[in-house]
Amino acid sequence: MKQTEELVMSEELVMSQEEDNISLTRRINQLKQEKKAVILAHNYQRPEVLDVADIQGDSLELSRAAAKTEARVIVFCGVRFMAETASILCPDKAVLLPEIEAGCPLANYITVDQLLAMRQKYPDATVVCYVNSSAEVKAASDICCTSANAVRVVNSLTEAKQVLMVPDKNLALYVSRHTDKQIIPWEGGCPAHCQLGVEEVLHMKVLYPEAKFIAHPECNPQVLEMADCVTSTSGMLRYVDQCKAKEFIVGTEEGMAYVLHMAFPDKIFYRFPHSMICQDMKRVTLTSIVDALGKKQYVVNVSDEIRKPAMDCLSKMMNIG
Ligand code: SF4
Repeated sequence: MKQTEELVMSEELVMSQEEDNISLTRRINQLKQEKKAVILAHNYQRPEVLDVADIQGDSLELSRAAAKTEARVIVFCGVRFMAETASILCPDKAVLLPEIEAGCPLANYITVDQLLAMRQKYPDATVVCYVNSSAEVKAASDICCTSANAVRVVNSLTEAKQVLMVPDKNLALYVSRHTDKQIIPWEGGCPAHCQLGVEEVLHMKVLYPEAKFIAHPECNPQVLEMADCVTSTSGMLRYVDQCKAKEFIVGTEEGMAYVLHMAFPDKIFYRFPHSMICQDMKRVTLTSIVDALGKKQYVVNVSDEIRKPAMDCLSKMMNIG
């Protein structure tokens, strides 16, 4: 009897949550029109947030979308460095981050003072900073990269023999296997990706022997060695599209499994639900988007002094593609 009551209660809760989501979505669409806003959402956002987004994608896709949009207001459903990047690229638009506390622990691994100290230690090195970094760190770097283009960016530096890559160590080690340049990695990492261990992957491979294992380059090198494909989230979409396999183990933040499922409903995607969750990405909710649009919060600004060199760093990357 008790179990039946609990089941009915949980069904009621799910139904009322769905009703809330429908009315919040309606409100968001209304406000979006009124404010002439566009909603961008990173692939790691909650499903209901992805569903209200005008554009979803990885950092590079969203940076490009931000630069092209004609909307006056950009609501960036992601973390701070992403909203900063949009603000650098679109200084004449209001860029809103719905959750002020949504930061990136990986980006926090390096400060501009630490980077300047490294520059003194390696005066001949070209500094490549991952887009997951603060505007100040971008401003003090030579060129930016994303996980989708890191190898291409480093190999485009024809004059450089030594490359200092910040702040993600695993991405730097991955790039070092695809270039003849000397890569100096910074000791930073993404908690959501670094937590994934060999044992967990082995366990999933035993459970789903037919599945291809796709992994993000922010994962540990030992994990990447077990992957059928190492790629960014946009690369995962392309790989699954071209691959004949029907099942995939998704080695990146768990939200990506939803994006893949929506894009390829006939295929099956397995996730690592307990280890690969980015708490910062999950802070954004439909309610915080309504508040962002209604109260015009939280505006992310980058000062001109930082914006100009940071823009230079981003533009060089975007010219490479
Ligand atoms: Fe940062 Fe990792 Fe979260 Fe991405 S998934 S925002 S790199 S902590």
